[in-house]
Amino acid sequence: MSNNIEHIECLIVGSGPAGYTAAIYAARADMKPVMYAGMQPGGQLTITTDVENYPGYPEGIMGPEMMELFRKQAERFGTDIRYGMITSVDFSGKPPYKLIADETHEIHAETVIIATGASAKWLGIPSEEKLNGRGVSACAVCDGFFFRGKDVAIVGAGDTACEEASYLAKICNKVYMIVRRDEFRASKAMQNRVLATPNIEVLFNSETDEILGENKVEGARIKNRVTGEMRQLEISGFFVAIGHQPNTSIFKDYLTMDETGYLITIPGTSKTNIEGVFACGDAQDKVYRQAVTAAGSGCMAALDAERYIAAKGDESSN
Ligand code: NDP
Repeated sequence: MSNNIEHIECLIVGSGPAGYTAAIYAARADMKPVMYAGMQPGGQLTITTDVENYPGYPEGIMGPEMMELFRKQAERFGTDIRYGMITSVDFSGKPPYKLIADETHEIHAETVIIATGASAKWLGIPSEEKLNGRGVSACAVCDGFFFRGKDVAIVGAGDTACEEASYLAKICNKVYMIVRRDEFRASKAMQNRVLATPNIEVLFNSETDEILGENKVEGARIKNRVTGEMRQLEISGFFVAIGHQPNTSIFKDYLTMDETGYLITIPGTSKTNIEGVFACGDAQDKVYRQAVTAAGSGCMAALDAERYIAAKGDESSN
């Protein structure tokens, strides 16, 4: 462990739209933020192609390029961005809180903004990885548009899969929904919406044996789990909607989370159950999960952190 303990006012953990936006606001408020950008700086947008629904880019922009611009803007105002991980935290007692970066460097932070995001779950078959970004996607709202008028498939049976299947059905010619059991997990209302949509065909008891295509998705081989029968679908897009995993495990001893690990904030704020610790972006949002909502919540976290520091200053001067 290095002996050089670093004392800072604001530590931002994570570097997607939420983290960078928090950094822009915190840096402009002179909080001298330090950001640990993680192993994949830019987060989930770096594995997306075109982003066409973020306001301000009328022609669209590639996800990685957009994150590069966010990074430059955060740096322009003096954010100290480091490529590494926060590997442990101690939120016991009062701030400053002790955090360890890359298992060696000790940081004491007056405020911590958590923007660690979430990761889409994948099926884990080789063809899915090979064709990722070439017709395989984990975000219908981001990528559905590219399959306008085409046939696509979506895997999953939860609320997300139903919502995304309904979304795709409006854009695409036909949507095959691949459900592994003989029933949905989604709420009745969402199920009913799917079942009432004429161009969605639900394949129950089904699993994906292989996604077909060399350089782009051209089909999928689906196995019936009861009969063993194989069926080949002619599709151009393959969507995976089997849930997300928020990247919050290092906070589990301190922060209130729901049963799947999403951080719980006080409604209308970014405040967690620990004073001086704020959460934004997908780490605390399982409903909207958009770049623009993540960015908005990053702004909230920085403003909450700034006001928290200001209120503490007022208390100590009284
Ligand atoms: P869920 O965990 O609810 O559902 C995941 C689905 O994926 C399940 O149907 C599961 O099948 C299936 N699945 C998991 N692994 C595999 C696999 N390897 N192969 C095939 N299928 C698989 O995730 P969601 O993202 O749908 O929802 C997360 C939370 O967010 C839920 O609480 C949901 O209610 C909420 N939400 C609410 C919305 C709203 O209210 N508008 C919109 C979106 C989400 P199985 O059922 O067999 O386990």
